[in-house]
Amino acid sequence: MQDSRFFSRTAFALALVTLLAVAGHSVLPEKHWEWLPDPDRVAHIYADDMHGGASSAHWIDESAHHFRCVLRESDLPAPPFCGIHIHFDTASKPSVDLSRYRRAYIDVDYKGGNQKLRLYLTEFVPGFTDTEEPVRSGTAKYLSAYVPSTETDQQFVVQMGEFLVADWWVNDQNVPREFSTASRDKVLTFGIDIAYPSTLGEHELKVNRVTFVGDWISAENWYLGILFIWVVALIAVGLGRIIYLRQVLLNEQKEKAKYQALSSQDALTGLMNRPGLMTEYHRRIEADDNCWPVTVMVIDIDHFKPVNDTYGHSVGDLILQRVAHQILTHTRETDIAARWGGEEFVVVLPSTPGQSALPLAERLRQAVKAETHPEAGSQGVTISIGVCQAERSDRFEDAFKHADTALYRAKNKGRNCVVVKGETASQA
Ligand code: GH3
Ligand code: MG
Ligand code: MG
Repeated sequence: MQDSRFFSRTAFALALVTLLAVAGHSVLPEKHWEWLPDPDRVAHIYADDMHGGASSAHWIDESAHHFRCVLRESDLPAPPFCGIHIHFDTASKPSVDLSRYRRAYIDVDYKGGNQKLRLYLTEFVPGFTDTEEPVRSGTAKYLSAYVPSTETDQQFVVQMGEFLVADWWVNDQNVPREFSTASRDKVLTFGIDIAYPSTLGEHELKVNRVTFVGDWISAENWYLGILFIWVVALIAVGLGRIIYLRQVLLNEQKEKAKYQALSSQDALTGLMNRPGLMTEYHRRIEADDNCWPVTVMVIDIDHFKPVNDTYGHSVGDLILQRVAHQILTHTRETDIAARWGGEEFVVVLPSTPGQSALPLAERLRQAVKAETHPEAGSQGVTISIGVCQAERSDRFEDAFKHADTALYRAKNKGRNCVVVKGETASQA
């Protein structure tokens, strides 16, 4: 009861914490990476003059990522262009993982007549991108997003999902389809183009600030973490239950064994009682050939009634306990000694022929006779013993009957003696 209340409370608390945790991901603090300004970021500017066009680009302030370019008509089939790209890669790191970032805050100053600016990322594609010249070779994946130049008056936000793989790059490079989606996990450069449709004339661009913002831990990993904690908690609870139930079962088994022992024991003498002897006989002796031959002894205290009547029941009990103790002392651990009822005892002796039991019975008889009982006027008591070797085919009841008959004969012979079935009594 106590236990199940504890479990239901714990489960309720865990469920509540889980709900809060699931809802909590959106309010977790975000990760900010102020990538620019950084004068050490390596940057390049370019124009179509490198392909034989008439446009040109030159730095105003290289460390401030500030340049000017002039777009001019030329004979080239493609429209004129110019732009800047800034490297993420450093000597120690060939690329950066931007996949965890969700958006970028960008601040640029732009002067020029173009309607739009094109933002782009280039990405290293293992197995496709040229390792020596990833950007220049054109084999780095090209992701682009377009921003109207009117938005550049102030800081603007670009969602990382806006960066899509440019279809001209897929077509021009004949990119296998498996490489044609954006992953943003190995980004090489960030750039801005004055691109098609491009306005001829002068363009001036300064990249002031780029900050990437994202999750410290992705929603996917966050939920997986919660799931993992649940699984671990459930396994722990399950194991705890198994250990607890095992303990309960063990305790119950111990209790059961204790009560079983008590129910097969005689309370007064500590010997087995009649059901205890029967159980033990069936369990241990009957089926085991190694126990045979088996001898059964029936022991009865002589003239016990007058002792009881004269000195009282409690003195009688004391004598019963002493006789029982003598029986225990004179038998082996493998023997079964029981109080059959009243002042009568039964001993089953495995691996013992009747003849071998005789000296043992005799010693027991003498020991009981020798013991005096101060409570009974220092009088002694005697016992009579009937002995019978059981037949392998006998039921216990048959062997007992034969031993009991021998006991009857011992009583008839004047008591205080041992009689083996079919033989004469040993002398008192
Ligand atoms: P016999 O030599 O023929 O066996 O004579 P006996 O007096 O021993 O036999 P009987 O069967 O007449 O008397 C048995 C007596 O044992 C009767 C009763 O007073 C006593 N007795 C039986 N059970 C108990 C017991 O648990 N405690 C005590 N104190 N006495 C008991
Ligand atoms: Mg008796
Ligand atoms: Mg009797």
